[in-house]
Amino acid sequence: MIDRIGRKIDYLRISVTDRCNLRCIYCMPESGVKLVDRSMLLRGEEILRIVKVMAELGISKIKLTGGEPLLYCRLSELAGEIKKIPGIRKVTVTTNGILLKEQIESLAAAGVDGINISLDTLDRECFRRITRRDLLEKALEGVRATLSYPEISVKINCVPLGAKEQDVCSVAQLAMEYPIHVRFIEMMPIGCGAEFPGMKEDRLRNLLEERFGKLTPYEGEALGNGPCRYYEAEGFQGKIGFISAVSHKFCRECNRIRLTSQGYLKTCLQYTAGRDLREIIRSGGTDDELKAVITAALDEKPDGHHFLEKAKDDDTEKLCMSQIGG
Ligand code: SAM
Ligand code: SF4
Repeated sequence: MIDRIGRKIDYLRISVTDRCNLRCIYCMPESGVKLVDRSMLLRGEEILRIVKVMAELGISKIKLTGGEPLLYCRLSELAGEIKKIPGIRKVTVTTNGILLKEQIESLAAAGVDGINISLDTLDRECFRRITRRDLLEKALEGVRATLSYPEISVKINCVPLGAKEQDVCSVAQLAMEYPIHVRFIEMMPIGCGAEFPGMKEDRLRNLLEERFGKLTPYEGEALGNGPCRYYEAEGFQGKIGFISAVSHKFCRECNRIRLTSQGYLKTCLQYTAGRDLREIIRSGGTDDELKAVITAALDEKPDGHHFLEKAKDDDTEKLCMSQIGG
């Protein structure tokens, strides 16, 4: 699919649930989380139908996310069914890792190509403060269990908050000790994230270079679905990556669209632009009608975000990241 300004859209991120077993301070409020009634969430067969239609339009890469996708019952079956859809080349999952140890075997059997594990710190107390749950050891068990499947590519995603005790260098060091890439995701001013300054890429890079030596830009083949810029460090098995949507805006190369757990097709993280696909499916719409609506949504995909400008539009997204899927 090519959008109005010539961007090739081949990547769909699907949020399979708005539920989560953590409460990361920059993603979800501690309490009062408004979960939608389960009947409003897309069912497995509805997700599969949308993916089939999207694949016919040119989507080839799928990310299963959430909320916490491993809370979705039968995630492995869903991933396996998606893998069988003609045109789909890659299915990956983004998870907090808490339930990975129990589920990695079935995800591997389903043919999942990659697992991104969100891990902001290796310090137990700091993990508890960021996620509001004392579950660091469970997340680490998940990382270790996943590493025993060499056919699955493993990436760690870390959002630097700017707090010293987070010790982002220890997280980066995982790429030295294991064959995994560690990516630093810049805090985005979405939902609760707007309350945190985060840490700018330049400062972070200086910090990492002071500890590990020069980071050299990686020029090899693409390592993922999107805009991460990777670097190599002496003695590291994996790469260090930066996804800096705000300070290094990459909207011109944006290749993605999102499907929320309620079946809303979102064409830009910052804006509500998009279409309700659940409504079309549940009112008996045909695949051709779905395709027409998806194409119309793409025609209106915003050129880019305006996070650095003062919010002016009431079409700015009000949902938090756990509801959108990150
Ligand atoms: N629960 C899963 C997880 O944590 O990986 C999947 C959903 S989570 C919303 C997806 C990603 O979004 C995580 O890596 C998380 O750190 C990131 N995220 C959440 N809020 C963010 C924000 N305001 N800015 C940048 N990244 C954010
Ligand atoms: Fe849950 Fe992921 Fe959001 Fe943390 S970042 S609260 S794990 S959805």
